[in-house]
Amino acid sequence: MKHIDEYRDGRLAQGIAATIAAEAIGGRQYQFMEFCGGHTHAISRYGIEDMLPANVQMVHGPGCPVCVLPMGRIDDAIKLALRPEVTLCTYADLMRVPATAGANLLKAKAAGADIRMVYSTLDAIRIAEAEPARQVVFFAIGFETTTPPTAIAIRMARTKRLANFSVFCNHVLTPPAMRAILGSPDAPAIRLDGLIGPAHVSTVTGTAPYVSLATEFLKPVVVAGFEPLDVVQAVLMLVRQVNQGRHEVENQYFRLVTEAGNLIAQAAMADIFEVRPSFEWRGLGELPVSALRLRDSYADLDAERRFSIATVRAADNPACECGDVLRGLKKPAECKLFGTLCSPETPMGSCMVSPEGACAAHWTYGRFRANASGVAQKAVA
Ligand code: SF4
Repeated sequence: MKHIDEYRDGRLAQGIAATIAAEAIGGRQYQFMEFCGGHTHAISRYGIEDMLPANVQMVHGPGCPVCVLPMGRIDDAIKLALRPEVTLCTYADLMRVPATAGANLLKAKAAGADIRMVYSTLDAIRIAEAEPARQVVFFAIGFETTTPPTAIAIRMARTKRLANFSVFCNHVLTPPAMRAILGSPDAPAIRLDGLIGPAHVSTVTGTAPYVSLATEFLKPVVVAGFEPLDVVQAVLMLVRQVNQGRHEVENQYFRLVTEAGNLIAQAAMADIFEVRPSFEWRGLGELPVSALRLRDSYADLDAERRFSIATVRAADNPACECGDVLRGLKKPAECKLFGTLCSPETPMGSCMVSPEGACAAHWTYGRFRANASGVAQKAVA
């Protein structure tokens, strides 16, 4: 654990936080969005917001793949899973994401649907090989991090001539979502001074895709790792860019991320997927060129075509404020359901399901707890 412990050294973190406090200009407010749910998780888990000076605030972004999947696509997955010939393979954190009318995959499984939790795309391939009489559908979600493994599974299915395997593709793209946040009508209200760019996504994409965003919106972007020292160092780098009037892309996570990214993974993705004209994101609405689908040359492995899936848009629970949380307009505890009707045991919205969701991260690490009256409040250290 030596390498990990080095990135979780509290004494070093306090030292960087003290430097941030010294360099953050008094009377000036700094607001930085961490795009990625992995950073949100780290910020909550290690209490990073509590280390920062009061005028340096973190705003949580939409980079939790489970959180941004719209309800209509979960409805589609449930309908698919309820088909008698289908075995739906999914990652575990999708099982309790709310769908229409309180449904979810876990309830569908309890009602008899053949839904299997898998750890990798290759598990789904193995199931398809072992059970040729079943139509095995892999429920593919996630950003650029999880797209290459889906591409590899599709290639394997083609090589092995697996006629009973297909992919329900919901992969989304990071830069268009960043653009939607920075260019949205809400941007003046959020008042972002810069972004912490995603870690794992950037190992695939590299830092290059963020350059046009930083230039166009005049906002610095610092790509950072997921360890606490990575995050506090990224905040310091952002404070320095703001103070110096710079808006550049900097790479704090240089131990894994390069400017160009993983060219092999990018080639695999480009071979199999093409960009959809538009895709709905929970909380962000329809975003142009923000998601992927299988190319025509892989149509036979596309569950959307094999099962004629036509997504019907579904409205979120009106009491859930995930949309505002995902856009950075509200903190989780500002939702009146947070920690009362909505908790990880009884999630009312997707942000309370995945560990990367802002609501779940705030709740799980005890940053907030319900008081004796059942009202969520910040825990006293
Ligand atoms: S606390 Fe629950 S209901 Fe409120 S925004 Fe978060 S997930 Fe939605």
